[in-house]
Amino acid sequence: MTDITNLSLADLRDALKDKKVSASETTDAYLARIDAAKDLNAVITVTADKARAMAKVSDDKLSRGEGGALEGVPLGIKDLYCTEGVLTTAGSHILDGFKPRYESTVTGNLWRDGAVMLGKLNMDEFAMGSSNETSFYGPVVSPWRRAGPNSHKDVTPLTPGGSSGGSAASVAARLCAGATATDTGGSIRQPASLTGTVGVKPTYGRCSRWGIVAFASSLDQAGPIARDVRDAAIMLRSMAGHDAKDSTSIDCPVPDYEAVLGQSVKGLKIGVPKEYRLDGMPDEIEKLWADGVAWMKDAGCEIVDISLPMTKYALPVYYIVAPAEASSNLARYDGVKFGHRAKDYDDILSMYETTRAEGFGDEVKRRVLIGTYVLSAGYYDAYYLRAQKVRKKIFDEFSEAYKKVDLILTPSTPSAAFGLGEKDGDPVQMYLNDIFTVTANLAGLPGASIPAGLDAQGLPLGLQLLAKPFDEETMFKGMHALEQAAGFSARPDEWWG
Ligand code: GLN
Repeated sequence: MTDITNLSLADLRDALKDKKVSASETTDAYLARIDAAKDLNAVITVTADKARAMAKVSDDKLSRGEGGALEGVPLGIKDLYCTEGVLTTAGSHILDGFKPRYESTVTGNLWRDGAVMLGKLNMDEFAMGSSNETSFYGPVVSPWRRAGPNSHKDVTPLTPGGSSGGSAASVAARLCAGATATDTGGSIRQPASLTGTVGVKPTYGRCSRWGIVAFASSLDQAGPIARDVRDAAIMLRSMAGHDAKDSTSIDCPVPDYEAVLGQSVKGLKIGVPKEYRLDGMPDEIEKLWADGVAWMKDAGCEIVDISLPMTKYALPVYYIVAPAEASSNLARYDGVKFGHRAKDYDDILSMYETTRAEGFGDEVKRRVLIGTYVLSAGYYDAYYLRAQKVRKKIFDEFSEAYKKVDLILTPSTPSAAFGLGEKDGDPVQMYLNDIFTVTANLAGLPGASIPAGLDAQGLPLGLQLLAKPFDEETMFKGMHALEQAAGFSARPDEWWG
């Protein structure tokens, strides 16, 4: 075998079970790639010793013909997931030195099934951002480059998207077989779209949030970023499941998502919402969307025009609700219990203030300020309460639409990857990235991004499928059909000079 890291997660799983490769050699191959790709800045902490020890345990199990669904498969973990005894930063200075004494339920599920932890992946600070530029550890660089005769000389470093930029870049650059990510307003789907990977945000409540550093608790969901639809299906099955420690996790069976791949989508009704057609949307996004519609039609689906008029309020509602919840969740970082504590202060109040002033970056401070404002007496009714009412209307509108259709098809992002530094001076421009993704979080719906084409500069573009609550199976069927039709095979390596 030339390079183990070329195998998809599914093929690697099978090769491990058939003893064609060992978990230890696979782990070493990935650790070598991580080492060679330091310039991408995708990994905050490499857990090489832990990875080798876990791989050894997997090899023992595999040699006895035992092991779980992911036995010996090396994964990267977004640094928002608490991992026992391993530095967990959430991309923030304020969590300096924080080594949790517990494991998040989702990562625990992955280890239960035999996966190997390679390390903790870079991300926007507290998952607030769309470009990975808010990370205290610096931006992640996308492994993709703009194509062109001089692309290898005159390279503008591109964003892999955010907030799960480290996860998306690592999967795209084959630094791990798959990665965990989280999505509060698009942070799984947007970076997946920008890096030619598959990202799945399941229904709110499908995965436990326990042990994942909270950003906006009513919106946060865990999910995988993977190389293809099958890999994402395998990962999600291990990650998902009821957990008594998260009161919002739902007690319903986790289906075998892999088993539905390839099943016919004939007769499925696919909704196309007219409000997602934005003024000034690039032609290539329009074309990609039209291609997606044509592919689903060819596969035997019925295309239904639908209307979701509340869509125009989704971004403003999100940017009230998410900061409001964040301002409350982030109140716990005060220098007392964990992480950074300011050195110079006069009394306890100034210790809190100085710690927070030093520990949080600008975007996080902006969100805490907005969130505190919209929750404050006198403004609560005008902003937060009203936003919650509109949120309910967005949910109702989707419920109505789902009486007519099984899935909804839209672009994942309004553009391909942009250059690092291009939008970081203008928060509103940055927030506009989330225009197609935030609705699914506000309504709690499952959503996924599937790589579907390249723009004129050779950069990946994704299509988004949204499904009914807890109907990830139909979503996976549709994703697989789209993947088959799109035949996306480009890899970032092709553009490397
Ligand atoms: N880009 C969005 C934000 O900054 C979404 C982030 C996320 O999903 N974690 O809030």
